[in-house]
Amino acid sequence: MKNDRGSIVRPVPLPESASRPVVTPLSPSVVYASDTPDMLDAQYEGGLHGYTYSREGHPNADVVARTIDAMEGAPHMGVVVSSGMAAVSAVLLGLTSAGDHVIGGNQLYGRSLRMMSEDLPRLGIETSMIDPGDVDAVRAAIRPNTKMILVEVVSNPTLRVADILGLSALARETGVLLVVDNTFTTPRAFKAFDHGADIVIHSVTKLLAGHSDVMLGYVAAADAALNDRLRVFSVTAGLSPSPFDCWLAERGMLSFNLRFDRAQSTAAILADHLAELDGVSRVIYPARHDHPDHKRAEALLKGAYCNMVSFEVKDSRAAANALARAAEGLSFAPTLGDVGTTLSHPASSSHRALTPEKRAELGMSEGFFRVSVGLEDPDALCAVFSDAVQAATDA
Ligand SMILES: *Cc1c(COP(=O)(O)O)cnc(C)c1O
Repeated sequence: MKNDRGSIVRPVPLPESASRPVVTPLSPSVVYASDTPDMLDAQYEGGLHGYTYSREGHPNADVVARTIDAMEGAPHMGVVVSSGMAAVSAVLLGLTSAGDHVIGGNQLYGRSLRMMSEDLPRLGIETSMIDPGDVDAVRAAIRPNTKMILVEVVSNPTLRVADILGLSALARETGVLLVVDNTFTTPRAFKAFDHGADIVIHSVTKLLAGHSDVMLGYVAAADAALNDRLRVFSVTAGLSPSPFDCWLAERGMLSFNLRFDRAQSTAAILADHLAELDGVSRVIYPARHDHPDHKRAEALLKGAYCNMVSFEVKDSRAAANALARAAEGLSFAPTLGDVGTTLSHPASSSHRALTPEKRAELGMSEGFFRVSVGLEDPDALCAVFSDAVQAATDA
């Protein structure tokens, strides 16, 4: 038996190599073997660093965590989870208890809003949705049991800019945690910890990974104990990411800075181009002087206005259909941050549950589109939009 290697199921050890791979190896192993019970004990006690079981952590997740930690200036290793919503869940479910109160921005990502309005109340956690550009309104909503304020820096799809400096001062003063979902702005445009955030969330799915082939999330807290709680909850709840998704995300992030800079410079060109077109009634881009929060964006984002542009053509579904059909080569798809430009239509997707009156109140008619600008040649992209807007005008 001892020498009969044919009967051993895993007989061949990893080949030795004096040189190292340049690319991070993909480690799909669910379990890690230790030499002895003493060594395993030391790993669990933290005396030896080593992986044990991949729900608890694995090398590919740690590489992604370290990459985003460095971008965000996170003081402790962040937690990589299986989606942006898993990161939101880790914060909202992992750090609250029945009887707490949570304030959310009133234009949060749709699923975050849904968790605030449906799931937290079911668990005995009170919620209020408030305009994060109005610090006085947020102050008025704070109660003795308020635990945290969750906001996004730039809202979707109307691209309003939150008063982060006002909110972080308020959070400090009242002892409430400020949680920033930095998905839209990314650390290239906005360093949330430097602006007083206690916790930073990312949907890595979007701009960071950048190729629409990975779902992944990230969360990190400035406070070590909170950061540990986020990790323990994520492991217990099984929010753990797949090694392959982490591997793809790492690959995507290698070109993140270049992609971001290119996409946002094209977005600025496209916004100005759209504003010149006859059929366009409104363009929303924070770099433009006609943006309602331009001054705040200028102060907070330091010239990095991101890759999202919204605009409006005439208020008719027929015009919207004609525009989407004529936008040749662009994906009409409800996501953002892809290498290619994508076009979304809130009235038929993210905001479809609202009445037309409520949408009008939020400034989202049938003619309202949001563009996530990708890596196309700017002139070619502007030409596609000229044709698409013409088609909408003619419809
Ligand atoms: C997409 C998104 C999320 C959710 O991320 P998933 O990876 O899709 O789960 C959360 N917040 C914002 C701002 C997003 O755009």
